Amino acid sequence: KPIVAIVGRPNVGKSTLFNRIIERRLAIEDDVPGVTRDRLYADTDWAGRAFTLVDTGGLAEGDDPLTVQVRRQVEAAVREADVLVMVVDGQAGVTPADEEVARLLRQAQKPTILAVNKVDDPHWDGVQYDFFRLGLGEPIPVAAGPGRNVGDLLDAVVRALPGPSPADEPGGEEAGRGAWGEPGEIAVAIVGRPNVGKSSLVNRLLGEERVVVSDIPGTTRDAVDVLWRRGERVFRFIDTAGLRRKSRVKDDVEFYSTLRTQRALARADVACLVLDARDPATDQDKRIAGMALEEGKACVLAVNKWDLVARGPDTADQYREALYREYDFLQFAPIVFLSALTGQRIDRLVEWIGRVADNHRRQVPEPVLRKVLDDALLVHEPPSRKGRRLRILRVRQVADRPPTILFLVNDPELVHFSFQRFLENVLRQAFDFTGTPLRLVFRAPA
Ligand code: GDP
Repeated sequence: KPIVAIVGRPNVGKSTLFNRIIERRLAIEDDVPGVTRDRLYADTDWAGRAFTLVDTGGLAEGDDPLTVQVRRQVEAAVREADVLVMVVDGQAGVTPADEEVARLLRQAQKPTILAVNKVDDPHWDGVQYDFFRLGLGEPIPVAAGPGRNVGDLLDAVVRALPGPSPADEPGGEEAGRGAWGEPGEIAVAIVGRPNVGKSSLVNRLLGEERVVVSDIPGTTRDAVDVLWRRGERVFRFIDTAGLRRKSRVKDDVEFYSTLRTQRALARADVACLVLDARDPATDQDKRIAGMALEEGKACVLAVNKWDLVARGPDTADQYREALYREYDFLQFAPIVFLSALTGQRIDRLVEWIGRVADNHRRQVPEPVLRKVLDDALLVHEPPSRKGRRLRILRVRQVADRPPTILFLVNDPELVHFSFQRFLENVLRQAFDFTGTPLRLVFRAPA
């Protein structure tokens, strides 16, 4: 997917604009920890074109002098983005910081759209013309808060996007996979915050036998995948070059790691979330875990640096329990305690990756689902309200990766959270869905 980055000096309304553009997508995600908070990017679409929107506003926090802060933010965005949206404050007029940002953008020679924000009543009409002098083409007046003219802005953004790549078409992820991968190949994203040992793990995993595959369509030019054959299995480790490259600038690191993580996850079947055994549940770890879940990926928790943990007979069990408490939204994911340094349990990790990938693709025939459901409902009555009882008219799997089960019910309102959880448990007990999220969808018949 092409990347569209929103840049600009602080307080011009970048985040408001970002939220305005993506808001209709966010409503259902509130219960995933760390996903909506501090969100920096989101997949969205306009006029049939899908793209990833990045809010660089969150990057520029800190006590750096203004210009340094802004410059880093813009430079990082320019490197990764296909289209830039520069936001200025129409009520404030052109400031020196705006001029600095515009200068960087002109140098970058990437398509740039200039949005003049806070033009929300007739009093301000025409103010956008002052911004012509930034040299970024015709300024588009908008009001991000009330949402005025945001559609016109998005029209301009979409016109500036690079030509569609196969991966942007509907169902393109599947089609793309066939185009550059063997069927049955397992795409794995090794993700985690800096210094947990991702690069060490990749090196340890791959050793010398590897095939480097470069130039993946529709991704950054320098994304490098590695194909790795193990017995019958072919694993594709996604964007391993991005893992090895280290950046000196902190804002850069965060920009890259967030964006690269998201792009790697988008192409993956399995997220291998690497944690540091000494500190395995920081906010950043959880945010990355939330991203994997949100993308519907199979997941393995790789607790690295296990060699540094002092162990007694019950250490692993206690540790596992504590970890599932922290990651209560990932209780379906297996945990492997390993060491990239000593090689301990690396084989176990590979086995798990294969197994959760199988579970992620699992397809259960309708009659089998029906039988399991009927048996479960014998011991657990479906919920009812005001004398009306929930009836499940039909149940079938409508998708895999992740498995998605559609329940046709007489009244979706009767399905509350605890009943959903009950159904998920029933499914997990009946079938091996270890390591994969499940999506349960409830609808009234059309
Ligand atoms: P990345 O940023 O996630 O790719 O992390 P690196 O692979 O660069 O590792 C960060 C640091 O942790 C390096 O100094 C590694 O040598 C060290 N390290 C990685 N894995 C292990 C491990 O299993 N045990 C120990 N003791 N150190 C490790």
